[in-house]
Amino acid sequence: MEKVKEIEKEKEKVCKKCNKSYTSSSNTSSSCRFHPSFFVCRRHDDQKRYYELGPDDPPYAAKFYDCCGAEDPEAPGCTSNFHVSYDDD
Ligand SMILES: [Zn+2]
Ligand SMILES: [Zn+2]
Repeated sequence: MEKVKEIEKEKEKVCKKCNKSYTSSSNTSSSCRFHPSFFVCRRHDDQKRYYELGPDDPPYAAKFYDCCGAEDPEAPGCTSNFHVSYDDD
């Protein structure tokens, strides 16, 4: 039987937002999850969210994504969109 090589036909690209590899055909508006802002280390000054420090944490221990307040650097992105490769612009 003939081998189907359809998978190989599609070149994998690397997304510059999330650094994941993807193929054009699997790229949808919800494929890429990322944080539009940076992981920062400072006090929350946004009154809408309150960063709860642990009892032993110094006040400057706050670390979070500026966009959504996620405190885990590995937290899944709060925004989703199409992947964007370096070749796309
Ligand atoms: Zn975020
Ligand atoms: Zn992506």
